[in-house]
Amino acid sequence: MKRLIYADNAATTKLDIDVFEAMKPYMLESYGNASQPYSFSAITKKALKESREVIAECIGANPEEIYFTSGGTESDNWALKGFVLSNVKRSHIITSEIEHHAILNSCIMIEKLGHEVSYLPVAKDGTVSPESLRDKLIDDAALVSIMLANNEIGTIMPIRQLSDESHAKGALFHTDAVQALGHIKVDVGGLGIDMLSASAHKFNGPKGIGFLYLKKGINISSYSDGGSQELGLRAGTENIAAIVGMAVALRKNCRDIKTNTEKLLALETVLLSGLNGLDFKRNGAYNHIPGNISLSFKDADGEMLLHRLDLKGICISTGAACDSIDTQVSHVLKAIRLDEKYINGTIRISLGRDNTEQDMHEIAKAIYQILK
Ligand code: PLP
Repeated sequence: MKRLIYADNAATTKLDIDVFEAMKPYMLESYGNASQPYSFSAITKKALKESREVIAECIGANPEEIYFTSGGTESDNWALKGFVLSNVKRSHIITSEIEHHAILNSCIMIEKLGHEVSYLPVAKDGTVSPESLRDKLIDDAALVSIMLANNEIGTIMPIRQLSDESHAKGALFHTDAVQALGHIKVDVGGLGIDMLSASAHKFNGPKGIGFLYLKKGINISSYSDGGSQELGLRAGTENIAAIVGMAVALRKNCRDIKTNTEKLLALETVLLSGLNGLDFKRNGAYNHIPGNISLSFKDADGEMLLHRLDLKGICISTGAACDSIDTQVSHVLKAIRLDEKYINGTIRISLGRDNTEQDMHEIAKAIYQILK
């Protein structure tokens, strides 16, 4: 059988074995509904409480500021729509042109409801400049939503400056931290974040679970109405096993950020030096998510590259993996004004902590063989 080289970690990551082991008892043995008063459910209630504490600690928040959701998409939708629904009067939202579609499509819906949304352009490396935000922040802006790191090109945004600009004009600051959490240090207080979206499957946790950090004192409308779970803001029986898994995964990844970063940056160097001689540009900023490598090969076809690499057992993506059904040129690559000759030849290789130097040599060799 062909050896699989998985290099699409920005799309999703492998479940950590410790995470799986931690989840198992809550699926097979301690399956009680955490809302029930009997002692069997005390175990799940305790797990819920402890997981919330662990997650809060990882991002410098208080446990009661963590609301469990089904993932990044739900957290993004909830942050924006929940804000608009609870602030009928003042709802001018400012976001960027390179957000994930969970934000952009939520904004389209918000515009349909009659609210104003402004989309900030980005620099060629994908950063949103605090100055461009300042220019747009007129007195009616109520919420700014800028991602912490971009999923297609890995660029990390100057979040502290962006949140400072927002607060100076009385606007709240939300960030989609789905690609960042577990990969770089995130401290909500230090970064001035009011709301933050996260998703466990991007940091070796299970799929279908995430959270929204909602700073104490901020009111947004409930995401779902029903029972009193998640302080009545997100009704529905909690997925305890997934929540426990997310907490274990986040704690482990946060603990290992330094080691993982060093390893991934070293692997990036090996991969890139293996591509010497090919005509390509690397997209994104110097300050990027470790292992997120967006490459644009001149006059090449990224789609073809993906499929030819697949035949060799290598998984990469062309642009936004969540959008691979939509094969149009990515909105991110358009926004960074990538040269026409390179734009179609773009692939994203996103490395994870399980990748090896050998993987890098094989990926580089395969790309070389296909393009030469
Ligand atoms: N936001 C960003 C930046 C993402 O990269 C993704 C997924 O790729 C999402 C949101 C959606 O997250 P989820 O898959 O958990 O719904």
